[in-house]
Amino acid sequence: MDLEGSTSRRNKKVFYNLLEIYPHDLQFFADPPHLDLPIDEFEKLAMERMHVLRIIQQASSVKGHQLLSNGWVNCISEALKEFRLNDYNLIIMNCGSAQSEASCAVRRRDHISHYILRLVYCRSEELRRWFLARETELFNLKCKMLKEEEIDKFLSFNKLNLSPISQQEKGDLRISLLYSTKNFNFDTDFYKVQFSDVPYLVKKKQVLLKDGFAIIPKKDLIHYIANNFKKMLRQALLYASKKMYALDDDRIRELLLGLEKNNKISHCIPGEYSHNSIDPSLMDVYAKNHFPLCMRNIHENFRATHTLKYDCRLQYGFFCKGIGLSYEDCVKYWRDEFTKAMEHREFQKKYGYTIKHNYGKVGGKINYIPFNCTKIISANVGIGQQHGCPFKVWDNGYLKQKLTEYGFGPQVVTEIVNHAKEGNYQMACSAYFEYMHGRPSKEVINHPNQYFEESFNYEHEYQSPYCSDEDE
Ligand code: SF4
Repeated sequence: MDLEGSTSRRNKKVFYNLLEIYPHDLQFFADPPHLDLPIDEFEKLAMERMHVLRIIQQASSVKGHQLLSNGWVNCISEALKEFRLNDYNLIIMNCGSAQSEASCAVRRRDHISHYILRLVYCRSEELRRWFLARETELFNLKCKMLKEEEIDKFLSFNKLNLSPISQQEKGDLRISLLYSTKNFNFDTDFYKVQFSDVPYLVKKKQVLLKDGFAIIPKKDLIHYIANNFKKMLRQALLYASKKMYALDDDRIRELLLGLEKNNKISHCIPGEYSHNSIDPSLMDVYAKNHFPLCMRNIHENFRATHTLKYDCRLQYGFFCKGIGLSYEDCVKYWRDEFTKAMEHREFQKKYGYTIKHNYGKVGGKINYIPFNCTKIISANVGIGQQHGCPFKVWDNGYLKQKLTEYGFGPQVVTEIVNHAKEGNYQMACSAYFEYMHGRPSKEVINHPNQYFEESFNYEHEYQSPYCSDEDE
């Protein structure tokens, strides 16, 4: 059996198929990719493209770098090489229709990653604007690197049937074209396009306008192509934003939100609140004695219902990681609890990846930071959900009842509830800390992990007089 031969024939077929789909480095991304993609590759591709777009943004923000100037292009190329994004460097800087397997593979990644980021950035006007600007810059950069003979190929691959004006018409317009066209060359073909499709040339007065049309030389067709790309992408992002509600896969939803956050915030846990390690068998004790009310509430609900809804998994999961719950301990803890209400296999399928993801072990390997009070307080919390800040979410009656259950006296309860009533949620939390420990916190609570650290350290100091300096 010629196994090797059949494999190589199969590979060739795949290659030719890819070449049909991806004949050119410059892509309109008119159609979404149809494929099955492992979730970690999904994230990896998104992170890679995000990195490319950030490099472009940074190059644009360097003083003296005009968009599309040689300095701007070199800066991008150098950064792509520095961060080992050589494949992107290749398809950008040598933009064309090379027929190699390697080129097709990169074009495919280019295509898929573009669509993933559409989902990430379609959610708000601000995000759409950022993504549209960066993708247009990337597209324009590729256009700039395109050789003139490649323009024809691109038009033909994309079935953009633009015909040049006749020699007769070009002759009749010769003088007008000479005065209105930058670097006029009579030997090139000229095309008639809607003037609104080449706004840059119109603004710069570098084009002949006639009867509502712009007459442009072949080399300027890239302005027409780039403008159409921008128009198409703007509409596509709006369309995607309206369809996002239909996305009911929790893993993808989490991933997209994580990627969106990753573009806005730093990637590491703030050292001041990160804890070395904790004993996972003492989670109930920690929750009772050292968790702020927001985390204690989620913890107790998790124990009671054996389930954590999506927002709780983020708020509580990142908090636990921040207090020192290791990945292995988190898997065991969640598995022991979830499997009281579901099969082991179901747990693995639904939450195995989430935990890996929370701990930065898959995909882009992001070290997500625990949420601070501002973020938790501002969360939208629906009926039946347990995340958010209880001092804000709970009504006064329920807050009173819970504090009383926890053993707070009536005077303390009234003080905490009054803070909450007045919207001083962090003051209420600081008062909760004070009455839990018999002393005030060093600062007003502004982070659940700050609460835990101070509470935990206080107990440690209190219980370990044998470790004082005098004994050494
Ligand atoms: S103030 Fe902060 S730490 Fe305290 S319960 Fe609210 S969100 Fe949690």
